[in-house]
Amino acid sequence: MRFGVTCTCVDCGHTFATKEHVYLCPQCGDPSPPIRGVLYLRYPKLPEDLEMHEFFASEWLELLPVLKADSFPAMRVGRTPLYRRVVDGREVWLKDDSQNPTWSYKDRASVVVSAHARECGAKTIVAASTGNAGSSIAGICAAQGQRAVVIVPEAAPEAKLLQAMAYGAKVIRVKGDYDAAFELSLRATEAFGWYNRNTAYNPVTIEGKKTAAFEIAQMHPRVDRVFIPAGDGVIAAGVWKGFIELFENGLTRNIPQIVLVQATGSANLVRNLTTDNPTFPAAHTLADSIQVTVPRNLGMIRYLAEQYDHDAIVVSDDEIVDAERHLARTQGILVEPAAAAAWAGWRKSRPAEGLVDIVLLTGSGLKDLAPLRETLHAPAPIAPELSALRTAMGDNK
Ligand SMILES: *Cc1c(COP(=O)(O)O)cnc(C)c1O
Repeated sequence: MRFGVTCTCVDCGHTFATKEHVYLCPQCGDPSPPIRGVLYLRYPKLPEDLEMHEFFASEWLELLPVLKADSFPAMRVGRTPLYRRVVDGREVWLKDDSQNPTWSYKDRASVVVSAHARECGAKTIVAASTGNAGSSIAGICAAQGQRAVVIVPEAAPEAKLLQAMAYGAKVIRVKGDYDAAFELSLRATEAFGWYNRNTAYNPVTIEGKKTAAFEIAQMHPRVDRVFIPAGDGVIAAGVWKGFIELFENGLTRNIPQIVLVQATGSANLVRNLTTDNPTFPAAHTLADSIQVTVPRNLGMIRYLAEQYDHDAIVVSDDEIVDAERHLARTQGILVEPAAAAAWAGWRKSRPAEGLVDIVLLTGSGLKDLAPLRETLHAPAPIAPELSALRTAMGDNK
């Protein structure tokens, strides 16, 4: 960890300075779900006279747990497009993070994890994952010459699994669910000295997920709402933290409202935002990247929600499928269902004149063809003749 970082436990408040890499709070940490003792990292204040454009032009190392820019792989992660669109008379900005090297937002965490692991001298990175985190760390490790071991539950979606294998990761499928994969990855970390990328468990994953906030703020010194699809709540916490740090350093005018968007059948983050007795009914949604029964980062989301403005929207699977098609057809951006959930959430939100709304599009639609197959069918072939084409086109000539 870089010199000067202090860690605060989001659950017990224990605060300490460290130069060593730590996973959870040394006083109350417990990795069983939802994780207890997730750490909130704080950095020394940036120079008073630093301007946003100077900060933006840098590698952001002052606010990341990475010492040297050389520790990153030579690969463009983040710095993704932010498109202005007007939809149904409302202005909205789309942050297209499907355009990352492995086509998901997870690359932002993986690249910082990979650089940090390199600075720690670790050669093998292990991750428990149901999909995108695994394929992402596999791709980033391939670029960096590190070994990735990806432990997945039996039912992990095939496309993401094959993607991880294509990058040369060692993919281990365990008989069991995500919890079993998570638990085994922790034991391997201890037994073999591997570096662990598990989401929320390693605070560096949250740090990596901040960087979209830096990019958005560079374009908009004032943002009103950010719509974020949430499963474990690491993307949401990361983006939130990024905006908080910019504001605390005087680089932006406000901290935007964070709008957590979850699927109706997988809403255990928003259900338990404030309650003293959290409950975790089994999650079911076709948006597999946000299907999470026990959100790992619940503690930090609650910690942030206590202090800062937020909102929550739940969307049904039908609304997600509809949003995926709508975004593709009207904006030319094909995203996976989890990302489409954010779009569905924005469409459902209260319209507000003059607000700067950002929607985070977190993954590519080519990662998961199943929902498309349900509604789209390859057309029957026709004879290569104008008359047949005329019939096929019907009234749409
Ligand atoms: C992981 C993921 C999410 C949700 O992120 P959490 O940190 O689990 O809340 C959303 N969309 C995509 C595409 C993802 O891969």
